Amino acid sequence: MTWDFSTEPEFEKKLEWMREFVLEEVYPLEVLEANEKDFMLAIWHLQQQVKKQKLWATHLPPELGGQGYGQVKLGLMHEIEGASVWAPIVFGNQAPDSGNSEVLAHFGTEEQKKRWLLPLLDGKIRSAFSMTEPNTAGSDPTLLSTTAVLDGDEWVINGHKWFTSNGMIADFLIAMVVTEPKADAYERASMIIVPSDAPGLKRLRNIPTMGGEHERFGYGHAEVLYEDVRVPKDNLLGERGQGFLIAQARLGPGRIHHCMRWLGQARRAFDMLCERSLQREAFGKKLAGHQTVQNWIADSAAEMQAARLMTLHAAWVIDTHGAAAARKEISLIKFFGANVLHDVIDRAIQIHGSLGYSSDMPLEEMYRHARAARMYDGPDEVHRVSVARQILAGYQPPKGMWPREHVPTRRAAAQRKFAALLEAAVTDA
Ligand SMILES: Cc1cc2nc3c(=O)[nH]c(=O)nc-3n(C[C@H](O)[C@H](O)[C@H](O)COP(=O)(O)OP(=O)(O)OC[C@H]3O[C@@H](n4cnc5c(N)ncnc54)[C@H](O)[C@@H]3O)c2cc1C
Repeated sequence: MTWDFSTEPEFEKKLEWMREFVLEEVYPLEVLEANEKDFMLAIWHLQQQVKKQKLWATHLPPELGGQGYGQVKLGLMHEIEGASVWAPIVFGNQAPDSGNSEVLAHFGTEEQKKRWLLPLLDGKIRSAFSMTEPNTAGSDPTLLSTTAVLDGDEWVINGHKWFTSNGMIADFLIAMVVTEPKADAYERASMIIVPSDAPGLKRLRNIPTMGGEHERFGYGHAEVLYEDVRVPKDNLLGERGQGFLIAQARLGPGRIHHCMRWLGQARRAFDMLCERSLQREAFGKKLAGHQTVQNWIADSAAEMQAARLMTLHAAWVIDTHGAAAARKEISLIKFFGANVLHDVIDRAIQIHGSLGYSSDMPLEEMYRHARAARMYDGPDEVHRVSVARQILAGYQPPKGMWPREHVPTRRAAAQRKFAALLEAAVTDA
């Protein structure tokens, strides 16, 4: 069958288990007041249940320590996990660890996998991805300025990074650094594993953001100084100058995993929007009875459906043709999905009025996190440029001065095409 929108019954059972589990066991974590040790213990217990169901770290193929479900199935699972900020940790799929484990799985040496990948997949250590810099534009990583120079058997790294998510609590950072300053723009950078206790690594602070205090237990976006940081030569990932190639492999699936999670977030906000519309009354009728609110519901449903189909289609292209073939689809869903997420949460806040603006509802926190989605893993504008470029590559400028569909030109051509026929018709008559 070429097109199929159904889910295998066996897999649907797993999804049903996940829906129930996330709702009953994971949602309560969001409002649980506990110290880090007790909180992590609660998470650990839930992780054991997930492992028993064989739903742990589903983003990797089995030979690399995951379950090998592929991106479409992963999309359906991430949609459920994405509804709650703690679910990806419970399922061993949280960013940035999921992307980093993919990099290690595909580009790491056996020794690197043993030391970093296996404990990462086990949930025993945490990681960060350190690319963006305050002094160069993150949207154009060819400008990266952090350098690594080989000195004997060690890399010496110097530079300034920020927005290294989970940088303060990570056991190792994957740093994107310039090792080949004279090479072509996309061959200058390499990725190097930097253990958090490497001499010269200074993790300055978690940058205060719109995410606010809700980034619990040190999770957050770190500012990091690399001052003559020394790491062994063997900490290089892949080959010298392969940084962009690896970043593409990492960011492709990583980006779509975010989009999949946003579907779940948007759905949760949508449920709140619908429920409140049926609960609250104004001007003699339920809010659901006002046409503007009906428009919000219909528009949100249509936009979410479009985002969902686009996300699953991009996942299908990755599964069938590889991440490189899905570049356009991934960029499309990255900016479209981020905006759908933002708009649906915005409408859900609006319908709750002042309650929606307050922290008595989860919406204001969801909104603050959703705002970042339009920037991380490449801002909207860059993805739009990328989509437009790829689409335009399939077009040619029409010859001559008029557009191809110019009606007078087409009319004259049609006249010429059918001249003999029309002439015969006139003669016959
Ligand atoms: C919550 C969060 C988590 C993050 N986590 C990480 C992480 O773990 N690791 C990491 O390395 N980085 C991380 N980042 C950084 C993120 O990837 C960058 O913020 C992003 O790539 C943009 O780079 P920049 O902030 O330097 O913005 P700039 O490059 O300075 O761009 C600023 C703005 O310029 C505009 N712009 C840029 N290019 C174009 C264009 N071609 N056309 C039109 N307008 C354009 C856009 O509006 C853009 O928002 C994170 C960011 C956030 C907000």
